[in-house]
This record gives sequence, structure tokens and C-alpha cells, in this order.
Amino acid sequence: MKILTIVGARPQFVKAAIVSREIKKKNKLYEVIVHTGQHFDRSMSEIFFQDLEISEPDHNLGVNRLSHGAMTGQMLEKIEKVILTERPDWVLVYGDTNSTLAGALAAKKLHIRVAHVEAGLRSFNITMPEEINRILTDRISDLLFCPTEIALSNLEKEGFKDFGCKFENVGDVMQDAALIFGQKAKSPESLKFNDFALCTIHREENTDNKKKLTSILKALTEASQILPIVLPLHPRTKIRIKEIGYNFKQGALSFIEPVGYLEMAYLLKNCQLVLTDSGGVQKEAYFFKKMCLTLREETEWMELVENGYNFLCGTNKENIVHLYRKLLNEQPRDFEGNLYGDGSAAKKIIESLINY
Ligand code: UDP
Repeated sequence: MKILTIVGARPQFVKAAIVSREIKKKNKLYEVIVHTGQHFDRSMSEIFFQDLEISEPDHNLGVNRLSHGAMTGQMLEKIEKVILTERPDWVLVYGDTNSTLAGALAAKKLHIRVAHVEAGLRSFNITMPEEINRILTDRISDLLFCPTEIALSNLEKEGFKDFGCKFENVGDVMQDAALIFGQKAKSPESLKFNDFALCTIHREENTDNKKKLTSILKALTEASQILPIVLPLHPRTKIRIKEIGYNFKQGALSFIEPVGYLEMAYLLKNCQLVLTDSGGVQKEAYFFKKMCLTLREETEWMELVENGYNFLCGTNKENIVHLYRKLLNEQPRDFEGNLYGDGSAAKKIIESLINY
């Protein structure tokens, strides 16, 4: 059985690495990797292939630095050509990026079966590009792998039972990744602190909104006086910060280059608190038993909020600083339970593909 895996962005490399490991264990499966090029430089791509031992991509499409429409359109055209050449049994897509949507759409139109890993997630904010990609990809997938019970119930509520597809909760491949690669964590050379909070910002809704980005930066600068903050800087955020003319050398707010996943695992393991607008990093905070402040108004990962591990604090400066101080002063919490499965998501995905 031939599986065509579409990857293009950082979080997909982590997810695909985990599933690829399982594929390699089954000799009746053969994987072809297509890199769309959405993230393409060393710090955002190459390092993941090395650290996470993903095979070199079989096809590099080189689509990047374009508007959403142009990017998705070009990917669609190029992925279609690859599918026609490779004729896979399945196209496997991950998450919620333009690469995800383009891969699913190209395959479906050629009557190739589509499997979506991380299906059923909803922020219920249809202005987010990721939300649009998720909803459309889910609707045309044949096999939908939900990471949580909430994701599964979202699909039930949207009537997926009547859409002729199969969906199941297999747990989260990111949980598998944290368990496996967490053991190989390595410290980034650029890390200057022993005690620190970890922050990431890259969502368009924050980076491309001058008011919100300025408010977040002011909050981080003030909060870093309480405990230093380390912030691996996403290329888009770096550009936007430069555009608004924010001084990079502020207090104990330490901007570093984006790090590879093994270094990220080290930062997650060793930080005292996480602040983020990333989907993946909210969960990883939980996997590494850290409290999380989410710099957004909503999240796809409601179970973290409902269980008190994650606080939606938006982008208001006072609110962020207040919650930062409060959480640092509180007793560490117990991180019990298994909100995202037991680390066997990839194994279940592969079994389902084989037995479809
Ligand atoms: N990540 C990383 N290095 C960084 C920042 C993030 O390895 O400098 C990892 C992070 O741990 C997670 C994934 O990239 O596994 C998440 O990517 P991102 O925050 O870009 O996207 P999202 O999860 O919001 O889709």
C-alpha cells in the first residue's frame, strides 16, 4: 500500500515524523513524502527532518512566500501532478495549514482516498485561516483521526455520520511525539537562563494586528521583570516586530532564533510557565506538565481550559501580566489523566489505514 504524505509546516513535520516511524515498521506500507515548501528554511524545516529522522522528501514543491489564495492554488496544481505520477492508495494530511487543504482537495478530485490526522478540531472562529482549512479538509476526508473526545463530538454534531466517511478518536500524535522525542531533549546554545518562562507567538491574528502585537510585547516586557521570558521568534513575527519598530533588547525578554523540536522539548521541560498563541505548544505545555497562558480569545483545545491547565488570557496587557504573576505564585498542579491518549495514536492510525 502506497501512502503519500503531505507536509509543509513545522507542526506537520513533528506529526508526520511520528506516523512515519510506524509506517517504517510495517513492510507492506510504502511512504512517499511531499514537502510543499510552506516552511522552507533551515530553522523551520531542515532541522526537523534531521532531528526527527524523517526521510528526505521525495518531492519538493517549493511553494512559499505567497498570499493564501496563490499559495493554496499553486500547491493544488503541483500536488495534483505528483498524485498523477505516484498513484498512491492514500493521501495523508495533517493539521490545518494551506498544505493540508491543498493536499486533501487535489487527492479527492482525483478519487484518491484522503486521511486527515487531527480532524474535528474547531475554534469556532471562521475568520482564522486555520479554521477554514480544517472544516473544508474534514468534509472531504474519507478517514478522520480525531485527537480528542471533543473533536469527535464536533464531527458528530456537524452530521459527519451521514457523510459516508469514518471517524474515530485515536489520541494525539503530538502526545506520542512528546513521549518519544522528549527523552532526546537538548538545550539550545542560545539559552541564557536557568529559570525562565517560554513564549511563542506566530498566529496571524496576533502578528498582523499592530495593536494586539504591541500589547503582547508590552505585556511580555513587563512580565519578564518577574521571571525572564525566552521567545524563539517565528520569521513572520520577527518581520512584524521590526515593522512596528519594537526594540529587541528589552529587559529580560530574550528573543532567540526558532529552535528544532529537540531543543523545544528542552525548553518545555525546563521552563516554569508557557505563554503561547500556538495550538501545538498549548498541548505540549500539558505534556511537559506546565501551566499555560494562551494569548488568544479562544482555543481548539478546550479540554485544557476546562481542566484548569490553560488560561485564555487574550492580548490585554494588564490581563497577561496579572495571570503571569498569579500562576507563578501558585502551587504546582498535579497533571493527572490522559487527555490526549496514551502515546499510541500513530500505531492506531496505521492499523486503521491498513484495515480500511
Ligand atoms: N516548535 C519548534 N521550535 C520553535 C517553535 C515551535 O520546534 O521554535 C514546535 C512546537 O513545539 C510544536 C510545533 O513546532 O511542536 C508547533 O508549531 P507552531 O507553533 O508553529 O504551530 P501550531 O501548533 O500553532 O499550528
